Amino acid sequence: MNLNTDINYIPGIGPKRAATLLAELGMRTVEDLLTYYPYKYIDRSRFYTIREVNENMPYIQLKGRIISFEKRGEGRSQRLVATFTDSTGFIELVWFKGIKFVESKYRLNQEYIAFGKPARYGTKLNIAHPEMEALTNENEQKNIGLQAHYNTTEKMKTNFLNSSAIRKMVFTALNDSTLHISETLPTSMIQKFALMSREEAINNIHFPKNADLLSKAQRRLKFEELFFIQLSIIRQTKLREQKYKGYIFGSIGAIFNRFYEECLPFELTGAQKRVMKEIRADLASGKQMNRLLQGDVGSGKTMIALMTALIAVDNGFQACIMAPTEILSTQHFQSIHKIIDKIGVNVKLLTGSTKKKERAQIAEELQNGTLHILIGTHALIEDTVEFKNLGLVVIDEQHRFGVAQRAKLWSKNIQPPHMLVMTATPIPRTLAMTIYGDLDISVIDELPPGRKPIATYHYFDNKRAELNKFIKKQIELGRQIYIVYPLIQESEKLDLKDLESGYEQMQETFPNYKISMVHGRMKPADKEAAMNRFVKGETQIMMATTVIEVGVNVPNASVMIIENAERFGLSQLHQLRGRVGRGADQSYCILMSRYELANETRKRLQIMVDSTDGFVIAEADLNLRGPGDMDGTQQSGLPFDLKIANLAHDGQILQVARTVAKDLLEIDPNLELVENKILNLQLIKLQRNVINWGVIS
Ligand code: ADP
Ligand code: MG
Repeated sequence: MNLNTDINYIPGIGPKRAATLLAELGMRTVEDLLTYYPYKYIDRSRFYTIREVNENMPYIQLKGRIISFEKRGEGRSQRLVATFTDSTGFIELVWFKGIKFVESKYRLNQEYIAFGKPARYGTKLNIAHPEMEALTNENEQKNIGLQAHYNTTEKMKTNFLNSSAIRKMVFTALNDSTLHISETLPTSMIQKFALMSREEAINNIHFPKNADLLSKAQRRLKFEELFFIQLSIIRQTKLREQKYKGYIFGSIGAIFNRFYEECLPFELTGAQKRVMKEIRADLASGKQMNRLLQGDVGSGKTMIALMTALIAVDNGFQACIMAPTEILSTQHFQSIHKIIDKIGVNVKLLTGSTKKKERAQIAEELQNGTLHILIGTHALIEDTVEFKNLGLVVIDEQHRFGVAQRAKLWSKNIQPPHMLVMTATPIPRTLAMTIYGDLDISVIDELPPGRKPIATYHYFDNKRAELNKFIKKQIELGRQIYIVYPLIQESEKLDLKDLESGYEQMQETFPNYKISMVHGRMKPADKEAAMNRFVKGETQIMMATTVIEVGVNVPNASVMIIENAERFGLSQLHQLRGRVGRGADQSYCILMSRYELANETRKRLQIMVDSTDGFVIAEADLNLRGPGDMDGTQQSGLPFDLKIANLAHDGQILQVARTVAKDLLEIDPNLELVENKILNLQLIKLQRNVINWGVIS
């Protein structure tokens, strides 16, 4: 057996389970299996009694029997509750999924070992989705010391591939005398950083001899993973810089200066000024600009986009600004058009609903160079859109676009245009470093003057009457109100029902107010019309699913009510809250939730109440959920998936790995030295199935 052997050949697996592992986890080879790392370890050196259990304990094991099964709740919240007892007390075991399987598998009044993490709901303790094992002498004896646990899917479980089955497979593979686990790092590096060998690390990650060896194994594997990511990213960046020159926008010319003197509607904030300086330096440098602009909602990114575009125009180039929705690009167009109309810059809007005749006009002006700035949606990246000399691309709310879409804009020129991507989803530094490597980052960390912090409250559903009073008072003051409902794709219909019944209730409660409703299932034209009525102030309340999340600007709207706030992620809550607080009035954000909340959810809502700082919230989000889940990062794409490192917690290892990779590439940019050949091989292997993000991000 070697690392490339198909897992089929591991004794005891068989073709059916191998097929399941391939389908569910993409696991094909012995190496894939051995790098399927445990997600937790349980100290099973002792059994606890139910009387000892409290909700602050980590994963523990109990001995006892099930004395009853009961189904509770309906529909989405249906669950199976088993009452589990030993001689000292009772605890509930709860399953939300796989209910049939559990009912048929576990018997009443037989002895089981139950493992899991205790939690408290109201006055009762429970363990959700415990791992169950029949209590036999053998099971009681063998579970000693640190034991690795593996994530499994429902499909895997129904094919008898639970965590302990995986553990057995790994055990078999590691004990195969013909298996050799080769090293992936140069010997000098292993010595210099006192790393465990790969072979020893993989053995200890699955079967730790003790806690100390486990942590050494983790350190080695995390280092390796982050190192190769950095090596890959930094190398791509260098290649890109060698291959492409940037257009030089050397001069700030008449147009920009006239704009600055005659059209600028307000004094720039200090942060906006600083960012403009950074951008101007890039544009004049002869290198292609590849800059990420992070700025909280409302920090004034649009103005930066416009001013950068004007510099392109001043230097004889065209610019385009792409936004993710029709509403948003129209809003950009209107505000930009209004500001610069009088200085003779030709700006046009191109979206899916642009009429044929207008399209033809735009196409002509783009090609003869009389159109200076084109603003639009995805329509901008259609093949039929051809520029005479595109010099700058600005992408707003970049996380809404896939990498492939960005690449397409890039390919509109032989020489790539300067790129400015803007986002209101702050990305913590460690994450940005990993995803973007050497992409330059600018931050607008200051809001325009006069903004009052948005007051945020968390209410349970029983406060509805107070909430309605509050709504009434605000509308009487002349304000407008958003009410947002969550939308989760898999149950879109149910979600829509929530919105629609909410709408009916509001109409009953407030017969004298006009209410708009917007959701994703409406025709774009209807959505647009409803949105516009609210923008113009013809309706007082806007009820919507999350379609309104991005970028709309209605300064008179000062209250954001978020229904079922427990079902939103932190970044999304923050984005939604950013819809208000744009005018001079005191603004409010009210998070409505049901009473029973998991601990983590309660924390999430509390963070929203405590902080309005996008960076604080993004860090907290990263800590609570892990980077894979973060809004906005899924699509940006790491060069390869993280299997063991955690960007929230391993920032220090990342920093070291990055420095090592950088220094190494300084000396040996093509990885040609004998001792670095091994790195090249591993990189090729890791990149084999991965699209080359590094060139475009
Ligand atoms: P975002 O960064 O969320 O895209 P916008 O560019 O939409 O923010 O700006 C939000 C609001 O703030 C707009 O109404 C804009 O005109 C205004 N604004 C931007 N910069 C300033 C400034 N320096 N002073 C005052 N108002 C500003
Ligand atoms: Mg914006």
